[in-house]
Amino acid sequence: DTALRRQGVTVLGATGSIGTSTLDVVARHPERYRVHALTAHRSREPLLALCRRHRPAVAVLEREADASWLRERLAEAGVATEVRSGAEALVEVAEAPEAEVVMSAIVGAAGLLPTLAAVRAGKRVLLANKEALVMSGALFMEAVPRHGATLLPIDSEHNAIYQCLPVEHRGGLARHGVTQLLLTASGGPFRGWSAEALAGVTPAQACAHPNWSMGQKISVDSATLMNKGLELIEACWLFDARPDQVQVVVHPQSVIHSMAAYSDGSVIAQLGNPDMRTPIAYGLAWPERIDAGVQSLDLFQIARLDFEPPDEAAFPCLGLARDAMAAGGTAPAVLNAANEVAVAAFLAGRLSFTGIAELVARVRDTEPVQPADELEAILDADTRARRAAECHLARR
Ligand code: NAD
Ligand code: MG
Repeated sequence: DTALRRQGVTVLGATGSIGTSTLDVVARHPERYRVHALTAHRSREPLLALCRRHRPAVAVLEREADASWLRERLAEAGVATEVRSGAEALVEVAEAPEAEVVMSAIVGAAGLLPTLAAVRAGKRVLLANKEALVMSGALFMEAVPRHGATLLPIDSEHNAIYQCLPVEHRGGLARHGVTQLLLTASGGPFRGWSAEALAGVTPAQACAHPNWSMGQKISVDSATLMNKGLELIEACWLFDARPDQVQVVVHPQSVIHSMAAYSDGSVIAQLGNPDMRTPIAYGLAWPERIDAGVQSLDLFQIARLDFEPPDEAAFPCLGLARDAMAAGGTAPAVLNAANEVAVAAFLAGRLSFTGIAELVARVRDTEPVQPADELEAILDADTRARRAAECHLARR
């Protein structure tokens, strides 16, 4: 029976940009996948639509009021999905035996506990939620082999690097003849802007990314280059690299998704149209390849590929992230928490665009770096950094 051999897929953050792209790919392959659980924060109407379409066994929302609303609508529609609410329910669906595959696509620190739960349950974890890995790098990477999990990076750059490295790449890059990882960056909507011009940027401008359509938080991160900073940290953990082995290359066309340079002079790149369904399909089917619904590249239409170094003076977030990785311990968790507060404040009109980096730097200066080998220490650093960021915001 093919139904028995189909893999169960749980999508954490199903209503988001990555979540809906994941369901698009999954729905192209009904003979391979079945949807076990879908989760969302508060967007109950979009989750209702997804439940009607994909008929998951379980759906999760944060608040019980939203869950009971969804329960009623699904009952009316004759859909037999069980609806749960709360943070524990997120962890439960992440580790449930009915799903072999867990897409981690919640945005921000809220994704940490369910993603770790999926790792500890030995799942195939498709990691889009970079914040979870940035916060808990050492602990996270140690848990993967210990619990027999399979970790596949979905962030397009890391997925590209994964494809450019040998299948077995643990134990340091040098051992495999890799000299450098070349992490490409579009440069965001403000590439080439001066620091003065950046001060007046609005949320609407920051969220209009030239090449990718994404959630608000990552769109702002892409505009400040904090996204590239978080990705630098992510690359260090995923590929056992030192920060100085990761070079950021601004490549405005976003056609090369990243590269690996080898000691013999070879540079291997992964190219494709900027569509997240490609890395998602790669993660779902690895080591096989499946249709992602993405058109192949038209190189004649692209015609040229450009490269330039990042402007780290106008975009200080990249350097802040590199410093946090070098400082180690809870420093990346503090950076991430301060950035989450700063981005939310910017989107709410409480902080200027250039104020984001300033706030992150202030929090770094006041928060001590602690060892990050226990989850408790990481969560504690996250809470303290958020509080410190809110204090700085209120005092301005
Ligand atoms: P999004 O804002 O579009 O979607 C986020 C999802 O998480 C939604 O389903 C939302 O309901 C849920 N969510 C938000 N806050 C939550 C909370 N507190 N508790 C539970 N659920 C919550 O975001 P996105 O663009 O899809 O990005 C998701 C993650 O993937 C982010 O970590 C982002 O950095 C990463 N990522 C995204 C892209 C992209 O192209 N969008 C590319 C690479 C990496
Ligand atoms: Mg990326």
